[in-house]
Amino acid sequence: MLSYRHAFHAGNHADVLKHLVLLQLLDYLTQKDKALYVIDTHAGAGAYDLKSDYAKKLAEFQGGIGRLWEVPPADLPPALADYVARIRQFNGNEANGPLRLYPGSPWLAQQGLRDIDRLRLYELHSTDARLLAANFKDAGRQVQVTSGDGLAGMKALLPPPSRRALVLIDPSYEVKTDYATIYKSLQDALQRFATGTYAVWYPCLNRPESRQFPDRLKRLPAKDWLHVSLHVRSPDADGFGMAGSGMFILNPPWTLAATLKEVLPRLVELLAEEGDAGKGAHFVLESGAGGTLGDT
Ligand code: SAM
Repeated sequence: MLSYRHAFHAGNHADVLKHLVLLQLLDYLTQKDKALYVIDTHAGAGAYDLKSDYAKKLAEFQGGIGRLWEVPPADLPPALADYVARIRQFNGNEANGPLRLYPGSPWLAQQGLRDIDRLRLYELHSTDARLLAANFKDAGRQVQVTSGDGLAGMKALLPPPSRRALVLIDPSYEVKTDYATIYKSLQDALQRFATGTYAVWYPCLNRPESRQFPDRLKRLPAKDWLHVSLHVRSPDADGFGMAGSGMFILNPPWTLAATLKEVLPRLVELLAEEGDAGKGAHFVLESGAGGTLGDT
């Protein structure tokens, strides 16, 4: 039984990193004049009210998008200013007022699509799947919402008819076997469709399965990979708190590393937890070539 609800965490530092990267990926991949399939395997509810009891309980957005909301766009690197502008757009008439709404990855992905592109959304939690379907009820045939397992959905969709795809894999890692499940699903996905772009989010926790995850992903048989992580404080000794998170991208656009190199120092500065700047807060940005199918 799933207990994770993204409404408690929407707009936190992990969402900032994930959604910034997602927008950059979409921006690049929609430049080529050929249909793109975007598959969001773990879509969540699609939209979040930051004034709701859920969001207010932990108020995680205050340490994420909340820190960027008041910064003048001219004081942000262009990619970060563009991300904040999208969140303002989602806030509609209240774009210049206090922060109220936060979009999920499905809406951010939808905004980046052209008519020829397709968006496929999966959500397993029945309540969030219902909310997601309601949020996209007027989206037409371009967007398809499925209440079910996104990894099985990805498997069924690959390779896409246009042979161009961006897959966002953003699980909640409620059980530690999730790491191995994602790894196996990616192995299978690369066998079906080696040239897709796969973006995997993961939490940086003080636990072996989380710490070893990026090194395992480096061994997947993709042509190239890019790994970015953003840490807002030193790791918690108890291993429970999420001091940072990472995005691991297989077959990334060649432009992404340079964009992130420009954005990350500023993000660390803005999102470092109180009193932590210059101590535990930091980023990691690395890239390389993938392994071979025989690697484990
Ligand atoms: N991607 C969303 C965003 O950025 O706005 C947030 C997703 S949240 C971190 C993870 C979601 O995955 C939860 O809503 C959870 O219910 C859902 N989930 C967990 N296992 C799943 C599975 N096997 N297939 C589809 N959704 C799943």
